[in-house]
Amino acid sequence: MTLTERDLKVIWHPYTQMQTALPPIPILRGDGALLFDENGKEYIDAVSSWWTNIHGHANKYIAQKVAEQLLQLEHVIFAGFTHQPAVELAERLLTILPNNQAKVFYSDNGSTAVEVAIKMCLQYWHNQGVKRTKVLAFKNAYHGDTFGAMAVSGRSAFTAAFDSLLFEVEFIDLPTAENMKQLKSRISYLRSELACFIFEPLVQGSAGMIMYEAEHLNELIVHCKAEGIFTVDDEVFTGFGRTGKNFACNYLTEQPDIMCFSKGLTGGTMAFGLTTCTQKIYDAFLSTDKMKTLFHGHSYTANPIACAASLASLDIFLSSETEANIQRIVKAHQAFAAKIKDHAKIKTIRQTGTILAMEWQTGEDTNYFSSLRDRLYKYFLDAGIILRPLGNVIYILPPYCITDAQLNYIYSKITDALEEI
Ligand SMILES: *Cc1c(COP(=O)(O)O)cnc(C)c1O
Repeated sequence: MTLTERDLKVIWHPYTQMQTALPPIPILRGDGALLFDENGKEYIDAVSSWWTNIHGHANKYIAQKVAEQLLQLEHVIFAGFTHQPAVELAERLLTILPNNQAKVFYSDNGSTAVEVAIKMCLQYWHNQGVKRTKVLAFKNAYHGDTFGAMAVSGRSAFTAAFDSLLFEVEFIDLPTAENMKQLKSRISYLRSELACFIFEPLVQGSAGMIMYEAEHLNELIVHCKAEGIFTVDDEVFTGFGRTGKNFACNYLTEQPDIMCFSKGLTGGTMAFGLTTCTQKIYDAFLSTDKMKTLFHGHSYTANPIACAASLASLDIFLSSETEANIQRIVKAHQAFAAKIKDHAKIKTIRQTGTILAMEWQTGEDTNYFSSLRDRLYKYFLDAGIILRPLGNVIYILPPYCITDAQLNYIYSKITDALEEI
């Protein structure tokens, strides 16, 4: 039996209709932006393995640091105990985050980082004896797949089976110059009920790489703060250079109260997540009354190996080489976008930092389940490129170490696809 056949006997894959999906491709190894299958065929990982990988696959420096940590201490209960990698990671992160961020709470993926953020906000008000129990979020938002994270995400085909069980959330449109006044008055009207406002900064990834202006987000944050509503900046996707700056919030002048991180945190090595908050939020849980404790934790909270991977990733991330790579990708994307933007099949093309998204013109229905999506996906796979369209939106967000030759190959295949599909 092949590995694929064995897989199909025992495994249920994420986000996959197992009856109709193409059989999974066994990947043997990775190297930089490349993945190699069993038969030696290579694929350029143009989506950074679900947006996690920032320094390329099988990175030797991270592997070395992880191996050293494994032989030193693999895990320890994090209630009542601590360790060097957790402390050092928190210290180092706080020096590069907005200076109002004061405390780090560890978890183990993006959804749990969001759950922690929501719980911090809701319990903040609970601990004050104030009834502010609602969350404000954007339509089409995506914050994860666990129930709380799903509740603050837009209602969609993905949540349909659970909609009646999700707690009530106030959804607003993305901000524009035109609707700003209306959004602000809606927020002011709801203010006494709202615990927090959660958002994906600048780019709504899962919604199809929908982008909006930093200036408008900034104005909403200022307004929420004036109304006493906490602001939760979900940087699970945008953190660590994706948008061209270290964090998307670096495009803002107003600083969020809470931040969530995961995907790029370990450089794409392993699952990890964390939530940071201000001193004010932390202080609201200090009490001789045990009921004011944040009762949240995961078995693998602050796993030392994940901390070591994150520290190693941070070393690489903060190097001048990575900075140069990010700017190189930004410029290459710009040049390619300028070249194809007027093509009849391109409906819109948009870019934020290292993220380039093209909306394909299509006569048929344009949702996530369109057959165009499947044809595009297969076309690029056959060409040795992993691009996973969101409906009719193709996007490239490569590991920062991708070479110019690899980038140009992706661009040339997209140009070919525009003629052939
Ligand atoms: C992917 C994502 C999450 C969820 O992270 P998981 O690790 O997949 O649970 C949350 N927020 C945003 C913005 C994301 O893109």
